[in-house]
Amino acid sequence: MAVLKVKDLKAYYMVSIYGIKRTVKAVDNVSLKVNENEIFGIAGESGCGKTTLVKVLSGMVKPPLTVLGGKIIYNFGDQNVDITSLQSEKLRKIRWEYVSYIPQGSMNVLNPVRRIRKTFRDFIGVHRKIKKENFETLVEEYLSVLGLPKEVLKAYPHQLSGGMRQRVTIALATILNPKVILADEPTTALDVVVQRGVIQLLKRIQREQKNAFVLVTHDMAVHVNLSNRIAIMYAGKIVEEAKTNDIFKNPLHPYTKYLIGSLPRIGDKSHRVSVPGAPPALSSPPSGCRFHPRCQYAKDICRKKSPTLVDVGDEHKVACFLNI
Ligand code: SF4
Repeated sequence: MAVLKVKDLKAYYMVSIYGIKRTVKAVDNVSLKVNENEIFGIAGESGCGKTTLVKVLSGMVKPPLTVLGGKIIYNFGDQNVDITSLQSEKLRKIRWEYVSYIPQGSMNVLNPVRRIRKTFRDFIGVHRKIKKENFETLVEEYLSVLGLPKEVLKAYPHQLSGGMRQRVTIALATILNPKVILADEPTTALDVVVQRGVIQLLKRIQREQKNAFVLVTHDMAVHVNLSNRIAIMYAGKIVEEAKTNDIFKNPLHPYTKYLIGSLPRIGDKSHRVSVPGAPPALSSPPSGCRFHPRCQYAKDICRKKSPTLVDVGDEHKVACFLNI
């Protein structure tokens, strides 16, 4: 069953530079569905709109970012809620308890002048009336389940290593057992050893709590490890979506082929080719298929018409005229 349905979502940055108004089409007509108990990955180059998408999904929309159309419907069991039409007070109630967010940098969540205990108290206190001794037991037990010593509660964020801070952030985002967890590049700033630990932690939490994850990262290796299905984003649009195994074995969109073809493989010394050229400016994206200036298969129709995302079977969808 779907816990999140996004339909025709448009979220643009309306900016003014030296008096000239520009519209940056960061999320342009995006539709997707996330099922219960699955990790849904979103991949793509920096600047493709994936971080904006996850911000909008968490209801963090502040000018110049503006939602211009579409729906974001969460299913919380007994109710369907379209968060694009919610007032900020109602959004606050949903956030953390039903939908939580793990941001790119742990310092974006942890207040540098508050001890970790105080931050946990602030988070939990908004949603649960809980006595002091019960709060201590709840937090200490949860930290110990995640393999964190209770001493972290006494620390200020700067006294912890980057990996430890990220684990604390993950603990904060998951302690109330939310139905949906939105994670934006949760492993990007970490070295590979710490990254592995954080990947295992996320896997374990999802397996035990059975929540749905939306995992945004440009790192395809992280997707192989974690995601059940992946959507590939390019220039504000989803260009391919499939089960993880299928997308790695049989990528259909030329952009996805480049992304997967450029990954290093142990023992394979052949030259890896990355995507030629640079991503377009989202304030003036190319006509037709937005990938056409970088695509070796581009034909006339690609410059004129934008391909729609079509189902080619077995939950594999692609937006490319080569596959229609
Ligand atoms: Fe290339 Fe055309 Fe497919 Fe776009 S629609 S990816 S330009 S072949």
